[in-house]
Amino acid sequence: MRILGIEGTAWAASAAVYRFDPAAPDADADPFIETDAYQPESGGIHPREAAEHMGEAIPAVIEAALDAADGPIDAVAFSRGPGLGPCLRIVGTAARALAGTLDVPLIGVNHMVAHLEIGRHGSGFDSPVCLNASGANAHLLGYHDGRYRVLGETMDTGVGNALDKFTRHVGWSHPGGPKVEAAAADGEYVDLPYVVKGMDFSFSGLMSAAKDAYDEGTPVEDVCFSLQETIFAMLTEVAERALSLTGADELVLGGGVGQNARLREMLSTMCADRDAEFYAPEPRFLRDNAGMIAVLGAKMYAAGATVDIEDSAVDPNFRPDEVAVTWRDGESV
Ligand code: ATP
Repeated sequence: MRILGIEGTAWAASAAVYRFDPAAPDADADPFIETDAYQPESGGIHPREAAEHMGEAIPAVIEAALDAADGPIDAVAFSRGPGLGPCLRIVGTAARALAGTLDVPLIGVNHMVAHLEIGRHGSGFDSPVCLNASGANAHLLGYHDGRYRVLGETMDTGVGNALDKFTRHVGWSHPGGPKVEAAAADGEYVDLPYVVKGMDFSFSGLMSAAKDAYDEGTPVEDVCFSLQETIFAMLTEVAERALSLTGADELVLGGGVGQNARLREMLSTMCADRDAEFYAPEPRFLRDNAGMIAVLGAKMYAAGATVDIEDSAVDPNFRPDEVAVTWRDGESV
């Protein structure tokens, strides 16, 4: 069987084809992925420009995926949210039109659950805790009683957006995360606010302090190093608390910030210290990509979790715990 996945929550106009055996939709097969990335000329992601890029780029990436499919498509899966409304609406329209034209079922995928499921797929873990460290989000998820529960989350911005705001302040181009990582290699630690409240955390005061430190003359390498150490220590603390409180012994990482080697190192060390297993997908499955939409689409399709076109409206604020998880059994954390 072949599932076409379409991703378009923000910067990535992406399409993928996932070929799988319906008797084993959990088997570790590899999707074909074609992505066209939006690169802002200046500043951060501008929703109108991102939507223009989405509209221009989506037809060609879908065509590339259909060419690679090399056979009939059985269902179309698309990212229904969370994300930027103008981008989501374009992708929703493309997915509905394609499903109608091909006369195949439509599957509406939660983008954050897809970030989690691609880690579960690649790791073979049964019931991991997931740290989603992406651009617009930062949260911990764990499966319990038919849903992925939000165990803890940012109280303000997403973690990648926080890094991108700092790099915009110092005049670096988008995306900022990789530039922070490169500059941090030559930095030394300066004190920044560390804000964890139980299972939740906050980046806004930390980002203001980082901008102030830079404006007052602290070398940018030192601020970048300290941002990484502070933010990733916060994420590692809450991930460890989530493992401890749930009793889980498996952690997967999701989201574009997961491409950062220092974050992976901290999480891996923490897991090793408590005899838990840690899995980070390869970078092409961490940043936004349609492969994760197609893979979760396949699992949902096998479970009959399709959606009628009239019920398939996109939702910019679609939370992962709104999704009835009908495609898996396995233990709760
Ligand atoms: P979401 O998945 O929440 O919708 P998003 O659409 O912004 O978020 P992602 O692809 O998950 O997209 O993540 C993009 C973010 O990852 C950007 O903020 C970028 O700066 C950050 N990022 C990319 N590489 C790195 C890196 N090496 N270190 C830190 N951050 C990084």
